[in-house]
Amino acid sequence: MTTRITLRIAVLPGDGIAHEIMPVCLALLGDVTAAADAFQLTYDHLEAGAALYQRTGDAFPEEVFATAAQADAILLGAMGLPEVRYADGREIAPQLDLRERLALYAGLRPVRRMPGLPPVLADARAANLDFVIVRESTEGLFASRGQAVVEDDRVARDTMMITRPVCERLFDFAFRLAAKRRHRGAPGRVTCVDKANVLGSQAFFRQIFDERAKHFPEIAADHSYVDAMALNLVKHPWQCDVLVMENMFGDILSDLSAALVGGMGMAPSADIGDRHAVFQPCHGSAPDIAGRGQANPTAMILSGALMLEWLGEIHDLPEAQAAAERLTAAVERAFAPGDLIPCEMGGTADTTRIFEAIRTVLHE
Ligand code: ATP
Repeated sequence: MTTRITLRIAVLPGDGIAHEIMPVCLALLGDVTAAADAFQLTYDHLEAGAALYQRTGDAFPEEVFATAAQADAILLGAMGLPEVRYADGREIAPQLDLRERLALYAGLRPVRRMPGLPPVLADARAANLDFVIVRESTEGLFASRGQAVVEDDRVARDTMMITRPVCERLFDFAFRLAAKRRHRGAPGRVTCVDKANVLGSQAFFRQIFDERAKHFPEIAADHSYVDAMALNLVKHPWQCDVLVMENMFGDILSDLSAALVGGMGMAPSADIGDRHAVFQPCHGSAPDIAGRGQANPTAMILSGALMLEWLGEIHDLPEAQAAAERLTAAVERAFAPGDLIPCEMGGTADTTRIFEAIRTVLHE
């Protein structure tokens, strides 16, 4: 008889639309894992974020962090509300604290277009987009968060931090990911996206990339300046495979890439370190649509699938990986007929309708 292991998931919905999309994700995770023999998921429901800060003055209590840090994985909705800010004007962002404190250096942002959705780019080659952004998520320009120097109300300074150990782990992650994707038919190429022509910190980033590339001779390695990449992502994104970049550049280009596949509600993410990982949609709390039932839950659901895939890999649980594939395939099949157009794309498919369409496909 196989022993059934229990995987503890810390669930942090957060703010805004997170309360509408998280229940959908949990329900579908329940559907695809219910029959698993080798593992079961249990959930610790935790609170952090802007609404909690508003109520208590603490956005991320230490005991909440400790419970999350002890979990096998963390599933997060979205945190922050524009009107709730720290005294220095910054938004509440416990998700950034998690990335830094748990050393989640590899921000994985898969960009895949679902069949059946309205085209964003006219070129037919954009119909099957499938590339990945790996955003460094613990340092870069974000390392300066909360430490900006403002002198005499005249000059403000933030500092970009690039360190060798983080870069080495980041680039190795990107090359290993490209190797995995190559087995599934991708070109096997990592592009270092930087600003090495202007900033010394970025030249250092590129230098370490080139050093690590030599350890992965089967994978092609090239470079692009970040401004050129912004252009190319709109002109010919189908040429991309794995793009690796500094934190702030990744923040910006992953939103641009989400637009290429229909909107923020289609873009999942995983922030992965050597021991911990957080899974959350790329988007924020979307206060402009919160409470209306119109949020697209797809990014949240696909982030749940990424969590199952990662848990399956690190705990050697083929059943978890199969569950991840089932969930992702159900999302694809639900959109494929072309009559499930999310509200964010001008359609009428609200949160419930998308949930029900995916659940129907799962149970077919
Ligand atoms: P953050 O900086 O916290 O990532 P943001 O300022 O980039 O957040 P979002 O909350 O991601 O902003 O919202 C950007 C736009 O995308 C808004 O118009 C929002 O309504 C829309 N949006 C975000 N997520 C979704 C979703 N799941 N479904 C539909 N629309 C969404």
